[in-house]
Amino acid sequence: MKVIDHLRKADRTLFSFEILPPLKGKDIRSIYEGIDPLIEFGPSFINVTYHREEVIYKEKGNGLTQRVRLRKRPGTVGICAMLKAKYGIDTVPHLICGGFSQEETEDALIELNFLGIDNVLALRGDAIKNEAHFTPERDGHAHAVDLIRQINGLNRGKYLHEEEQEAAPTDLCVGAACYPEKHPEALNLNVDVAYLKQKVDAGAEYLVTQMFFDNAKYFHFVDLCREAGIMVPIIPGLKPLTTLKHIAFLPKTFRVDLPDAFANELVKCRSDLEVKRLGIEWCIAQAKELRERNAPCLHFYTMGRSEAVRAVVAAVL
Ligand code: FAD
Repeated sequence: MKVIDHLRKADRTLFSFEILPPLKGKDIRSIYEGIDPLIEFGPSFINVTYHREEVIYKEKGNGLTQRVRLRKRPGTVGICAMLKAKYGIDTVPHLICGGFSQEETEDALIELNFLGIDNVLALRGDAIKNEAHFTPERDGHAHAVDLIRQINGLNRGKYLHEEEQEAAPTDLCVGAACYPEKHPEALNLNVDVAYLKQKVDAGAEYLVTQMFFDNAKYFHFVDLCREAGIMVPIIPGLKPLTTLKHIAFLPKTFRVDLPDAFANELVKCRSDLEVKRLGIEWCIAQAKELRERNAPCLHFYTMGRSEAVRAVVAAVL
């Protein structure tokens, strides 16, 4: 079933999870271990992230290094198909522009269609690690909006290089990303929202936000979107902080600000356990308020760890 149909039918705030494929070489059981503790809560859908290749430098042992491109977390589509078959749950594979030509994008979409997957989250992706800017493939897409246009074209039966009028249309529900604290590259929030409007006009049926820790920023962002004519559901993305390392890298990586009330307590934490207790408590409070104010769905970023998310969902349900 499509995400948009889940949202339309809902008479309460839904919830969903986002998981990562395991590192290459890891067993599929590591995915079950992450999902099994969450599945009893009956999430409406599960997103599976896509990870493009990275460039690494391998020591060759003779003083030379070799430049190698490798994908550390392959398996997005396989995991989506497995989740559907094993748990009977709707899945949302992420699909990015980076590393894909239009031809390869079309192949990937045909595969999703044949597997009976009804959804896709269309993203640009980031620059390759150690590269300053995002560079599209030759004949690839430079922005998520172009990818959304291609998916929507396929939904109307418009294949690349296909002259026939009778080509079978796909029927994929398209979601897109948004940023209550603006995308790091955007000149300002208004410019970002103007580009977001283009993604919705191109066919994005709902949006999922970057993680945030200050609900006021989400509510302000939703108001700004509505003023700009973006009327689709805007699903808040939540992440309970659980480690000292999180404090060091999440705000920097995702360019999000922590509100004073939370930050002032976090700086006093001396152990992962203290961060986790506080992080879960904060996330529960965020989730409760979002639910009270009728957010369409709460989307939890598990980032490979389900325990804290489980504690939050159990407290909110
Ligand atoms: P875009 O919508 O293309 O926007 C990127 C930047 O370009 C923004 O600053 C925007 O304002 C600007 N812009 C947009 N359209 C135009 C235009 N037409 N002309 C000029 N400027 C424009 N990354 C992954 O690699 N894999 C994942 O699985 C993944 N999942 C994610 C899930 C969510 C919910 C979110 C919020 C992010 C996710 N990301 C993922 C990260 C995402 O790929 C990066 O944030 C990326 O830098 C931007 O992606 P986007 O789709 O928002 O890009």
